[in-house]
Amino acid sequence: MTQKVRVRFAPSPTGPLHIGGVRTALYNYLFAKKHGGDFLLRIEDTDQTRFVEGAEEYIKNSLAWCGIPYDEGPGKEGEVGPYKQSERRAIYESHVQDLIDKGEAYYAFDTPEELNQLRETYEAKGEKFSYGPLTRNELNNSLHISKEELQQRLDSGEAYVVRFKTPINKSLQLKDEVRGYIEVSSDVLDDKVLFKSDGLPTYHLANIVDDHLMKITHVIRGEEWLPSLPLHILLYEAFGWEAPKFAHLPLILKPNGKGKLSKRDGDKDGFPVFPLAWEDPTSGEVSRGYKEDGYLPSAVVNMLAFLGWNPGTEQELFSLEELTHAFDLNKVNKAGAKFDPNKTKWFQQQYFQLSPDEAIANAYFEELNNMEVNTNIDYVTHVVKTVKERAVFVADLWELSSFYFEAPSDFEAKAAKKVWKEDTAHIIKQLVEVLSEIEDFSEANLQQIVKPWISDLGLGFGKVMQPFRLSLVGDMKGPDVFHIASSIGKNETIKRLNFAIKNLAD
Ligand code: GLU
Repeated sequence: MTQKVRVRFAPSPTGPLHIGGVRTALYNYLFAKKHGGDFLLRIEDTDQTRFVEGAEEYIKNSLAWCGIPYDEGPGKEGEVGPYKQSERRAIYESHVQDLIDKGEAYYAFDTPEELNQLRETYEAKGEKFSYGPLTRNELNNSLHISKEELQQRLDSGEAYVVRFKTPINKSLQLKDEVRGYIEVSSDVLDDKVLFKSDGLPTYHLANIVDDHLMKITHVIRGEEWLPSLPLHILLYEAFGWEAPKFAHLPLILKPNGKGKLSKRDGDKDGFPVFPLAWEDPTSGEVSRGYKEDGYLPSAVVNMLAFLGWNPGTEQELFSLEELTHAFDLNKVNKAGAKFDPNKTKWFQQQYFQLSPDEAIANAYFEELNNMEVNTNIDYVTHVVKTVKERAVFVADLWELSSFYFEAPSDFEAKAAKKVWKEDTAHIIKQLVEVLSEIEDFSEANLQQIVKPWISDLGLGFGKVMQPFRLSLVGDMKGPDVFHIASSIGKNETIKRLNFAIKNLAD
């Protein structure tokens, strides 16, 4: 039997989750679901200095909003928890001890000052200091002291870190599912710290131990972790474990393709780089989010899916369900993916149009309530059906439909000048008379009565319909005038016409 696919998203709670992180989560989720596997969330919070209050909640809320649920993770305990690294200290401690006992890791007592001094000395010679196979034997570590001395120094409480003992002159053939084979010599690596003086593991150790214990079969993560792959493979070997498969996802680049997409790019060009808005707990600075900017999660998910992957067909709109079928790690690109805010808007427009009228109406109704506009859901649905096709966001609807709810208080000057002529008041007064006689104010009936009346006047449609529109809307925009009149009703229509006659008199 083949092994059950298990993947994980392993963010560090150091701030809001960048959309690049959401894409990593999404690809993991899609891969797991495609193969009938499990998607885990693991919080990598061993770096106490970078811990940010609220970030873990933010990560969970973001995944929930995007509709990418995890099968196991904090609050959803499975068999291999806990899923927060800060709750797994004892596990790391015993594992680092294993490596030390096997001679794969060692204690290093060099102080930060000593190491800085070394770096400076090397720099002065135009060289770069590296704590590794070439230097470690001359440094302050347990590789060349007796067992007794080591014990004594540990017992005396001397500060130490544990470093990985990089094998010498070993050629590594690494396989990445996206990039293919990569060859590296262990000689270019340094002896990374695995365990810190604060009694916590570093990312490298915790990550490998957890991926192994959590039975992860595929590690799918951002390209920035590719340089760590040789060390990770060596760690698996040192433990005597089989390594999972690795896939490193391409970077998400600025719209101009020059460098990694950052929050600053978003601030500059007016688009969010976070799924949800985030308030920095220290500075109070607020970063905008896709949710609060009015985007539908389906649009954001579809956009993210295409940042680094494409199905190889013309189809662009994919539901999450469809994505799980179509997604293929082999179709993930190697090259960085340029972020395109306009394409994101395009996806939003598509999904907005595909949304049921009722869903949009509910959201709009809520907004109208907040604006203290007195209306009801049936009327809002009726309006939404008419104006929706011109909107991209719920927030566009007011601009497109305010006149269905409120009479204009003034008239757009240019339009008024163009449309309201000397004889217009006289014409509109006659229109008011005609309308007053109409019992059935349905759109069809209005058309049936008013149109022939205009023809009989012999003035041309524009002479009547344009000021009619201006009176109802305050501008020369909006859907069919008869639709507006019928919707707002007879009294309101006549009221607005009279208001226009009075206010546009000259
Ligand atoms: N904690 C790492 C991060 O924040 C996880 C890297 C990995 O997936 O191995 O991105």
